[in-house]
Amino acid sequence: MNAGERGETRHISELIVLCGQDGAIRFVSRAFAQCFGASVEKWTGKPFAPGNHAAAIGAPAAYQTSARIGGRDLIIDWEESVLESGERLYVGIAQRDISNDQPPASGAAVSGQPAAPTTASADLKMQFLATMSHEMRTPLNGIIGMTGLLLDTALEPNQRSYAESVRESGAALLALINDLLDYAKIEAGKLELDDEPFSPFSLVQSIAELLSPRAADKGIEITAYIDKNIPPTLYGDEGRLRQVLINLTGNGVKFTDSGGVGIEAHLVSKDDAAAVIRVDVRDTGIGIPHEMQAAIFDEFSQADSGAEKRSEGTGLGLPIARKIVRAMKGDINIVSAPEEGSVFSFEVAFDYDENQDIDLIPVDAPVIIATRSGVLRRSLQLQLNNLGVSAVVYAESARDARRAVLDSPDAILLCDIYLAGEGAAPLAQAANRAFVMLSPLARD
Ligand code: ADP
Repeated sequence: MNAGERGETRHISELIVLCGQDGAIRFVSRAFAQCFGASVEKWTGKPFAPGNHAAAIGAPAAYQTSARIGGRDLIIDWEESVLESGERLYVGIAQRDISNDQPPASGAAVSGQPAAPTTASADLKMQFLATMSHEMRTPLNGIIGMTGLLLDTALEPNQRSYAESVRESGAALLALINDLLDYAKIEAGKLELDDEPFSPFSLVQSIAELLSPRAADKGIEITAYIDKNIPPTLYGDEGRLRQVLINLTGNGVKFTDSGGVGIEAHLVSKDDAAAVIRVDVRDTGIGIPHEMQAAIFDEFSQADSGAEKRSEGTGLGLPIARKIVRAMKGDINIVSAPEEGSVFSFEVAFDYDENQDIDLIPVDAPVIIATRSGVLRRSLQLQLNNLGVSAVVYAESARDARRAVLDSPDAILLCDIYLAGEGAAPLAQAANRAFVMLSPLARD
């Protein structure tokens, strides 16, 4: 995965504040405004001194503050420095205050997993990794924050492009450090899972929405489907599930150049105690040779790390995702073949709240799906099954769609905008009703 596509982790945000010599705020980062509320502009001019001006020129200061925001306890690690100009730069890293945040004794299990045979030296290595990654984040945030400020000034075009490169490289390095830190924490047995209510529907939908701009840039499809029998409220760690889904779906988008990626949530079983949900992330991308399928879960491993290496990721996404899913007492499986795409699946049991009765309007009419995108066809087919529609006709060209509409005048036509583009007017005439433009993306 690349910079910026990580999901929520325990690190909530990097906060940057620049104050003038008078102690009044001149700039806050968007993450700061999101964390403490109000817009970036509203903070300008407000006094700010979380450490009572602890730093002096050439002598930066580091300290912690705590805050309760939106019902969450946050600990903020601040690094304050005074610039040559007399301005003060505050770089803060906000983290959830996770109680019981001590690593368990050596050899203890990541929750839900059998104890790994860790040694004291492995523990030390992890501790070192965690400390170093944490220490590197603060100055790196300074670099990214100050480059952002630089980019807000008048720059020559070539200066701007140099500064943009600094920011991009900084962001890529920050993503790697965040991964290392996350990985080290999980290895050190610090993976604590929340058990809070969340909506699986919103979660799955939001992943597709988040990644759809990147899919659109590549001209591929991204779809989301959730079985209507899945309870509307599950209990679990939504942030960590989001992280897993963003990794799997982000990889799907990264390694697919035609077709697309579909996220599907299916109900496997449900009893009084738990609902077992299976999530499949399917793509029509390059696929993974059988002999590489186990290795991609090893740290820093990339299936295509040969001469034609194309991935810019860190090779830590899947190992982290697998550890999270295993901590939830599930596992990630792959079905894949080169050039045939991949399906990454995991199954996890969740506590749930009873289903609300959903009143679905029965659809009696047959439905014609007109698209050439296999990804879109599958997603629509699943959704129509959800609605109890059994009569579905497929068309792969505007001509076939028109014929299908003429054969079955009561049918509802769902037509891909690209097919509609081939013959929208006669199709609309044949359907004699407005037809639905489904997707501006499908091109395969
Ligand atoms: P990263 O994507 O950061 O390199 P990951 O651990 O997420 O790291 O993935 C490891 C490797 O597994 C990738 O570099 C790629 O070679 C392979 N891989 C993962 N997902 C897919 C996919 N959907 N299709 C093809 N290859 C994949």
